[in-house]
Amino acid sequence: MLPQKCGMGVYMSDFDEKDKSQLEDARNQPEKEEKKEKKESDYEDVCFICRRPESKAGKMFKLPNNISVCNDCMHKTMDTVSQFDYQGMLTNPAFIDDLNKNMNGKGYPNLRFVNIADLQGEGGIPNKQRIKKKKPKSGQAQALDIKNIPAPHKIKAQLDEYVIGQEYAKKVISVAVYNHYKRVATGTMDNIEIEKSNMLMIGPTGSGKTYLVKTLARLLDVPLAIADATSLTEAGYIGDDIESVVSKLLTAAGNDVEKAERGIVFIDEIDKIAKKKNTTSRDVSGESVQQGMLRLLEGADVEVPVGANSKNAMVPLATINTRNILFICGGAFPDLEEIIKQRLKKQTSIGFNAELKDKFDKEKNIVSQVTVEDLKKFGMIPEFIGRLPIIYTLAALDKEMMVKILGEPKNAILKQYQKLLELDEVKLEFDDGALEAIAEKAMAKDTGARALRAIIEEFMLDIMYEIPKDDNIGRVIITREYIEGTGGPVIDIRSVSGENPDNLKVIEQK
Ligand code: ADP
Repeated sequence: MLPQKCGMGVYMSDFDEKDKSQLEDARNQPEKEEKKEKKESDYEDVCFICRRPESKAGKMFKLPNNISVCNDCMHKTMDTVSQFDYQGMLTNPAFIDDLNKNMNGKGYPNLRFVNIADLQGEGGIPNKQRIKKKKPKSGQAQALDIKNIPAPHKIKAQLDEYVIGQEYAKKVISVAVYNHYKRVATGTMDNIEIEKSNMLMIGPTGSGKTYLVKTLARLLDVPLAIADATSLTEAGYIGDDIESVVSKLLTAAGNDVEKAERGIVFIDEIDKIAKKKNTTSRDVSGESVQQGMLRLLEGADVEVPVGANSKNAMVPLATINTRNILFICGGAFPDLEEIIKQRLKKQTSIGFNAELKDKFDKEKNIVSQVTVEDLKKFGMIPEFIGRLPIIYTLAALDKEMMVKILGEPKNAILKQYQKLLELDEVKLEFDDGALEAIAEKAMAKDTGARALRAIIEEFMLDIMYEIPKDDNIGRVIITREYIEGTGGPVIDIRSVSGENPDNLKVIEQK
């Protein structure tokens, strides 16, 4: 074959086969990269100038370095550029002076205002601030198939493995969640819109409110945002905007709008946004927050910043519809008991039952008799309560429940320690007295199950420190005496010789 002449004045035959394939590769490179990029990028393009995502601003112009600019901004830029008086600029002595000054110094004019960090990342915008592309709906495949939603009894059975007691709460929550996701999956039922199952959870601190919601979200594999109502204020005041809870949910969903739209938002300490009594100033962190939340609870389109807490010009916004987001509010409502008692007393002080007036003072779980009227009296506005149709209470934990919490849940704290020591081939046991002693100590602290961990960590420190010192130790039994500080744990030696090593004595003396 005759050698062919190619553009550079080199004969093709000068290349060997390897070079040829390299050249071919180089030619195909941009195509390949483009394909790779298309495959890899789960995120929408964001306009480098106005920060609107492609879904809002329309198709983007692609500039080098993956920078995208939307149609509007490109037009504005072109308009501005075409109106420049270039001749005037060049003959303007002030401009020339300025230019020279900058050139003699370190930089170029105007480049001082560019934050170089902003130019890093794909297209100059970090993924944290970008929205995931909507996945095209393929055929019938639904994100939440109605058949996949476990029936209420199955949801409860799963919760039982983690949450001790609180039977009523678990039952209510299972049914509500089942109905909610059934509604999400089907849209409507017989053309009658089913009411949204937002919930209000009332229970003392440490009774497992947050834990219940966290467990639920994990079991259902939906994103969860936990917010504190005390940090929320009306928009424009110091504190978090009310819509920031939805922004948190978007972050929890990995910036995937569709996923966020079927997530759960848990707002704790909701009793702290009760209407302030006897106040003449604007109640920006109380009643106004309740007012502001109405829209979210009911279902509205909200614009939230992506990858940031507050809206500003440089943060892209995403629109999220809260219609299918399940809102669960929780609070301890400390004075509610008094309000309920007063109501009950008033009812019984009329007629034959009048003499039973003080019977409610001794009744234990009086909060479970709460009504909407009581909550209104507490300071929750009627519209707010109206949007939380499912109201239930969690019982304060008693000693028996505390003992169960220590050892029964799948991820129980004692099981965690046992597993840790198992790695050292040491068996850790707790006798019944020890469990009761821990529960009694926790009850005295009055912070619910939250106190358990602190107490256990305190006495386990010595055990975790001393035991690995001696390979002979095969079993440790924690006793009531050890918890109460009047004795030591029982220690079994692996070998049958019964000879006590020195460091073992140290532990026993404690
Ligand atoms: P709060 O009601 O104040 O939100 P939490 O849910 O934060 O209380 O509870 C604190 C911890 O106590 C949880 O992390 C969990 O480990 C434990 N806990 C509380 N109640 C229960 C329960 N009923 N079953 C199992 N663990 C519980």
